[in-house]
Amino acid sequence: MGVMKIRTFKEPPGARAGGGTYRPGELKGIVQINPKHCVGCDTCRRLCSAGAIEGEFGVTHRINLDKCIICGQCLVNCPFGAIEQMSFVDEVMQKLKDKDTLVVAIIAPAVRVAIAEEFGKPPGTLTVGRLYRALNKAGFVIYENNYAADQTIMEEATELLGKIAYWILGLKKLEVEIWGNRKLKLDNLERFKDEPLPQFTSCCPAWVRYAELYYPAVLPHISSCDSPMQMAGPTAKTYGALKVWKHDPRKVYTVGIMPCTAKIFEASRPEFCHAWKWLREHGYIPEDTPKFPDIDAVLTTRDLAELFRRLGINLMEFEESEKPKDFEWYSGGGTIFGTSGGVMEAAMRFVYHVLSGQDPSACSPKWNFKQVRGYTHPVVKATVPIPLRPEFRKLVGSDVFELKVCVVNGIGTDGSHIKPIIEDVVAGRSEFHFIEVMTCPGGCLDGGGQPVNPMGTSWIDPVLPLPLNIPP
Ligand code: SF4
Ligand code: SF4
Ligand code: SF4
Repeated sequence: MGVMKIRTFKEPPGARAGGGTYRPGELKGIVQINPKHCVGCDTCRRLCSAGAIEGEFGVTHRINLDKCIICGQCLVNCPFGAIEQMSFVDEVMQKLKDKDTLVVAIIAPAVRVAIAEEFGKPPGTLTVGRLYRALNKAGFVIYENNYAADQTIMEEATELLGKIAYWILGLKKLEVEIWGNRKLKLDNLERFKDEPLPQFTSCCPAWVRYAELYYPAVLPHISSCDSPMQMAGPTAKTYGALKVWKHDPRKVYTVGIMPCTAKIFEASRPEFCHAWKWLREHGYIPEDTPKFPDIDAVLTTRDLAELFRRLGINLMEFEESEKPKDFEWYSGGGTIFGTSGGVMEAAMRFVYHVLSGQDPSACSPKWNFKQVRGYTHPVVKATVPIPLRPEFRKLVGSDVFELKVCVVNGIGTDGSHIKPIIEDVVAGRSEFHFIEVMTCPGGCLDGGGQPVNPMGTSWIDPVLPLPLNIPP
């Protein structure tokens, strides 16, 4: 059975005007129910993490955009294909035709295990080398989002370490030797005095919007790190443009290729213009250069398949394995960002190493922390004993630090998975040091921008109720 074709629409006039829960610039109405096709089966309302869908069984439903966190789970689970997505395929195709513009594809980890479904292959077919070469044929250069995910994890795990050093070890600064005789040096740990543990992950924009709308008290706990896509955009427009591609940064057009509808929203957030700021401050572009975003457009996995089809490119005709080029290198830690527990596991590897002075393989074979994996559990909790370096032992009065972590595997219907976790944090009774939240069940693999199998994915997952009601 092939994948379901999802209808799309272009950005309508006024979509960035702001209003309600949207700031000027932020795209509104990325996911919409088409009343002509909705039969009122109620599936979407019973799955929505944010209580944003209105309508009774048998009646046309609608999305309350002010409540919506743009995860797209309603879209991928609507059995009648009645939910549509704003798409930028036309705009990207125009840019690809413009010879002055360097178009950069920033490819998220979950895209490569899903896009082959759009070309008739079984779910999970790995598509990396052939995806790069198909993108090259379409006119893109590549910036691996996994490479950016590696950067994110170094930043996010370092931030977590700083908070552990400040809040648990009672240090004002931290200096330790890490791999390859390098030094990790963190001065001024007192900057974390208003950012208590536990630390939440920040890479899922639907989760960030959920916290902003429903639990602003938890915001000081969310990591200050930008998501991998929002780290890739500025790096591509600065280091990539100036040092690697030697192209005018103003003519670099970055396209996030994402499994996610919320990433379309994230790219439109007005604070994400770091490249524009840095390039002006350092004299690479004139002071009066109009503001430009770090990410110019986002294509979902489905959108990219549509772009390939329009260009007559069959992804599956390319060779799978080829030697990686610039920005095509990355680690396994970046790759596992695409699944629930992946960000947590990647961060734990670094935290373990710094606190113990050992590789995690000393206690956990092949750097795997299997305790935090669990696609079928709504919330995974784990305690990881970390043998401490001698200099840290006397600070905590123990040879071992027990790192307590939690993975929220999908926010859950109307926040059912996340609410008890957040309420404990806000009340100051949480036992955790680090909490990963992915809005979509299973993580980005099951994101709202992925190919839609008519048999669904999320709604047959045992973590969720079976909500399908077919009207008589
Ligand atoms: S899931 Fe059912 S109620 Fe929701 S949009 Fe689709 S047809 Fe309408
Ligand atoms: S499921 Fe997600 S995208 Fe759909 S209405 Fe709810 S919050 Fe919005
Ligand atoms: S879990 Fe991944 S796909 Fe789903 S909303 Fe978050 S970032 Fe997007």
